[in-house]
Amino acid sequence: MSEFFDPYNADRPLMMKCSCGRDHTLADHHAEVAADSAAVELRRRSETAEFEAYSNEFIEATLVKALFPQDEERRRFLRAVGKSTAMAAIASVLPVASMQAMAQEKGSLEKTNLKIGFIPITCATPLIMAHPLGFYQKQGLNVEVTKTAGWALVRDKMINKEYDATHFLSPMPLAISQGLGSNATPMNVATIQNINGQAITLALKHKNNRDPKNWKGFKFGIPFDYSMHNFLLRYYLAENGINPDTDVQLRVIPPAEMVANLRAGNIDGFLGPDPFNQRAVYDEVGFIHVLTKDLWNGHPCCAFGTSTEFIQKNPNTFAALYRAVLTSAAMARDPKNRELIAKVIAPSQYLNQPEAVINQVLTGKFADGLGKIQNVPDRADFDPMPWQSMAVWMLTQMKRWGYLKGDVNYKQVAEKVFLITDARKHMKDLGQPFTAGPAYVKHKIMGKEFDAAKPEEYLKSFAISKAA
Ligand SMILES: [Zn+2]
Ligand SMILES: [Zn+2]
Repeated sequence: MSEFFDPYNADRPLMMKCSCGRDHTLADHHAEVAADSAAVELRRRSETAEFEAYSNEFIEATLVKALFPQDEERRRFLRAVGKSTAMAAIASVLPVASMQAMAQEKGSLEKTNLKIGFIPITCATPLIMAHPLGFYQKQGLNVEVTKTAGWALVRDKMINKEYDATHFLSPMPLAISQGLGSNATPMNVATIQNINGQAITLALKHKNNRDPKNWKGFKFGIPFDYSMHNFLLRYYLAENGINPDTDVQLRVIPPAEMVANLRAGNIDGFLGPDPFNQRAVYDEVGFIHVLTKDLWNGHPCCAFGTSTEFIQKNPNTFAALYRAVLTSAAMARDPKNRELIAKVIAPSQYLNQPEAVINQVLTGKFADGLGKIQNVPDRADFDPMPWQSMAVWMLTQMKRWGYLKGDVNYKQVAEKVFLITDARKHMKDLGQPFTAGPAYVKHKIMGKEFDAAKPEEYLKSFAISKAA
């Protein structure tokens, strides 16, 4: 008998649907079956004592790292007060303590039915997979993850409060909070979703035109003005002597439309999120010119965030969400889970992409479209730490390219929008023997060090810039 239809069954109506009773294609049916069994296995892994211990320690280590960005400072503190005093002091101020307490107290969640927006790209992996893996549910939350067509819509739905929280491009909360491109509404980055994971993809006809100095007149797609994609592409072009405002055209194109635009010849390339770089290779319309990892290894891309108002009104719900997303990040960053995660997020309700494409992105074993198979395990990675120095860098680039005019109080904006943890402030209030330095670390972008303590100097160091 047939695998998908049942024309000789007298007990069932003959409908030209899938035999599972749903109206979808055979490919979709197989993708969903694969996703279901992968989710069962990942759920099983997430419920082992080993993962629970790992996940709790990951969350705690993440928060302690936020508290002591310089490791020397952490060690000095531990040596000064001893391990048990230090642990008690840290537990008294870290959100992890209140989160654990909250999980045992019933009825403390202010809001349990939540709507969270996402753009169907691999950056959103932790936020998306938390849904089929039951991580939201485990925190007492009934979350609907809602696929959204583009970033402007994400911004508008957050401002209109249609979404409770969302997948953001990490520069978006900085822009929205300052009223760039919309009314000023205070927004926060709670965690970075992903680091690396983007690429410059070019049309196949440019296979022998790899030197950016020859790219005058090119048209590039970017997902949004306030995106790391825009800032990294502009940075890369300018370092190669190409003025991104006058020598080339940059067009805002929703990620899901980038490959079609490349195929149609509307653009020469894009700096976009995955899976679309890999999808261009899969569809044989483009090749991966450079991974963004090779421009800034460890650069932030997308974020998980919400409005300041939501956090203030729903602190326990926010803590529960935060914990669900961090649990997911703990699972996503482990390479041994990546193949299963690719199956879980591939189906139509999430990324709607061939599993083979997502698999290449998440495992880092991929065809580059130039005839080579590359092996780059950290092509995409998931490190949740929202370093405020990253926010300062984004602000320097907003100013560099004229999005932000006049004087900028870099530190004030960064510290207001990027929530690294209030713990540092609390520690000081409690009189702990620890000097709260700012949560800044140094970064290296295309070989040049960025020190968030000197943003204006950095800004003045660029030959191509709109900043006076
Ligand atoms: Zn089916
Ligand atoms: Zn992203």
